[in-house]
Amino acid sequence: MAGRDRGRRTGRVVVIGSSLAGMFAAAACARAGLTVTVLERDVLPPAPWARPGVPQGRQPHVLLQRGLLALEELLPGLGDELRRAGAVELDTGDLAWLGEAGWSPYGSPQFRILSLTRPLLEHLVRERVRLLPGLDVRDGCRVTSLRRGRGSGWQVLTADGASCGADLVVDASGRGSRLPVWLAALGVGPAPVSEVDARTGYATREYAAPTGGPAPTGVVVLQTPGLPAGGVALPVEGDRWLVLAVGSGEHRPPRDREGFESFLRGLRDQAVSDVVSRARPLTDVAVHRQTASRRHHYERVRPWPPGLLPVGDAFCAFNPVYGQGITVAACEALLLHRALARGLRPGTERRLLRSFARLTSLPWGIATSEDLRLPTSDGTPSAAQALAGWWSQELARLSAHGDVRAQWAMTRVYHLMASPRVLLDPVLALAVVRARVLGTGPPNPRPPVLGPAAVAGS
Ligand SMILES: Cc1cc2nc3c(=O)[nH]c(=O)nc-3n(C[C@H](O)[C@H](O)[C@H](O)COP(=O)(O)OP(=O)(O)OC[C@H]3O[C@@H](n4cnc5c(N)ncnc54)[C@H](O)[C@@H]3O)c2cc1C
Repeated sequence: MAGRDRGRRTGRVVVIGSSLAGMFAAAACARAGLTVTVLERDVLPPAPWARPGVPQGRQPHVLLQRGLLALEELLPGLGDELRRAGAVELDTGDLAWLGEAGWSPYGSPQFRILSLTRPLLEHLVRERVRLLPGLDVRDGCRVTSLRRGRGSGWQVLTADGASCGADLVVDASGRGSRLPVWLAALGVGPAPVSEVDARTGYATREYAAPTGGPAPTGVVVLQTPGLPAGGVALPVEGDRWLVLAVGSGEHRPPRDREGFESFLRGLRDQAVSDVVSRARPLTDVAVHRQTASRRHHYERVRPWPPGLLPVGDAFCAFNPVYGQGITVAACEALLLHRALARGLRPGTERRLLRSFARLTSLPWGIATSEDLRLPTSDGTPSAAQALAGWWSQELARLSAHGDVRAQWAMTRVYHLMASPRVLLDPVLALAVVRARVLGTGPPNPRPPVLGPAAVAGS
């Protein structure tokens, strides 16, 4: 693979950023036989610790089923490594899940996912990728700009005044990517940007596992347009739980401990607050508010400079409440790996950018059409988004009244395992019509594992 390919050297890759998208892309390149240098501005911790360059590190991160499969394909055996390191395996059907229309059916087997802290995931991925031959990670090394090198190559300049030559530069520097600025300096672009900002805020606190009786597998209380405030409680490695308060606009959760707990008590259901009341806090509350969905349409820039590829959040960042970013980054790395296996030819990067754009369409559509339903988002849904949103609500209503087929179809789409076409299955359509004409059955009960619901005011 290394050497010349139709007149283009394709041997040296520089990846900017050693977080998840960077290490996935580095793995894809190294496995294709290329020499990879990863440049990371942070000094990387020797253990799974949060770090400044990834300010979202203390917030809960879930991996969708599609992401878990993509990771396993990219780094075979990683799932077992995560389990051995303490990641908690759980079935999404066992989560106590309160959606807009009510409780989802509880206890029907769905996807098996892993729950672990973000620093542990990143640490294990990085340590694993570092072992690949031809791969070097240089930390404490901030990239300041890009310059065209000789021929089709690049010079990547760093803050210490050094530079690094590359035939392919992968920008995995996240939401704060400077690529638009660097491209402007080179006279390229600009790429159009789409953005939907629901002004969502996260606040997370870590707890010891709850005591005093059995704990639920995990609890999710979703935000709704009527009350854009929700909460999540999930077990992670080391007998700990991450408890998230999430809200949008004026409902963004506060940083102080009392405010955090009172926010959880004010949710539509007390299930998350109940977990907190039975658990010992281990940390302070960590907040994060950079959550807008932002998509750079680099695939529309012509001519696109060869040897340059943005990935991960630098290409498209999503409102994190939908848990999509890592999955999309892993899928992009698989596309990159397949393209490199065919050889880097003129136009490969543009074709990859178009594939990334296609890959991104479904998660982007899910995140933005849901966010545009919240009163805190600027902008209004298009007619197609409004129709899709209305149909999803119909299916959610069925699911909240015991229809496990509707639940399963929605879960598959949410986990990026199926096209939204499955939501139009005639059996589901018939069930929606029947429910509209004859009414629904009784709503699903609150999952018994949560115990009796607290009576308001008691
Ligand atoms: C609050 C929150 C919760 C989230 N929850 C989920 C979730 O549940 N599931 C999910 O799939 N995704 C989630 N995400 C998204 C997820 O964090 C990202 O999609 C994922 O980390 C991939 O991002 P990335 O690697 O592109 O960028 P980042 O993770 O932001 O990393 C960028 C890296 O580049 C480095 N860097 C930046 N600039 C430079 C430079 N000039 N030179 C050298 N290095 C540089 C940084 O130090 C960092 O290491 C969440 C995001 C947020 C904000």
